[in-house]
Amino acid sequence: MVIRTAKFVASYPNVQKCPKTDLPEYAFIGRSNVGKSSLINMLTCTKALAKVSQTPGKTQLINYYLINGEWHLVDLPGYGYAKVSKSEREKFSDIILNYILKRENLHLLFVLIDSRLEPQEIDIQFINWLGENQVPFALVFTKTDKVSSTALSDNLQQFRKVMMEAWEELPPIFTTSCVTRTGREDILNYIEQVFQNAKINQLENVEHD
Ligand code: GDP
Repeated sequence: MVIRTAKFVASYPNVQKCPKTDLPEYAFIGRSNVGKSSLINMLTCTKALAKVSQTPGKTQLINYYLINGEWHLVDLPGYGYAKVSKSEREKFSDIILNYILKRENLHLLFVLIDSRLEPQEIDIQFINWLGENQVPFALVFTKTDKVSSTALSDNLQQFRKVMMEAWEELPPIFTTSCVTRTGREDILNYIEQVFQNAKINQLENVEHD
């Protein structure tokens, strides 16, 4: 997919306030500091698009970007601020959980994982919650330029192993670096694929009605 235009739309405090539109949405989420803003800027080829609305302390907002006038890239608030002992509700704010459960035009969620770390409990909990709720998602391992290729494959292997304890099938997995721009094409092509499949399904449904 070629990104022709990327425009910041607005920030919203919760899913109820999000724009009433049928445009497909591809959302990005991860622990704070995972590299989400950098990834969004890399995907959209902009230097500071994802920072426009993100002044410190105001991160609990849902940021919308209109891409090619065709779909929304949605930047969700980071999770994992609270201590591990806190309840699910406190770890994953209502803003996040409600958006994911209620937003009908959410096509796919990209869950960002720091590739330098071994599997983190909070990421696994979040992913398992997505599974329980049948939310389609893909994993993106960020900052791969900061690890050796051996450490990267070890961490990926460990992550796969932990996931296989609860999952029969693994989701699509991408590896990215904003420094080397690794993974950009793969992610955009995947979005294109999901986008086109959804269009075909929609047409088939109309024909069957
Ligand atoms: P966010 O809080 O998830 O939006 O994370 P940011 O995009 O602000 O990134 C957090 C820090 O990680 C910043 O200092 C970035 O420069 C750095 N960072 C993000 N992505 C990469 C990457 O792919 N490679 C390297 N080396 N640093 C990165």
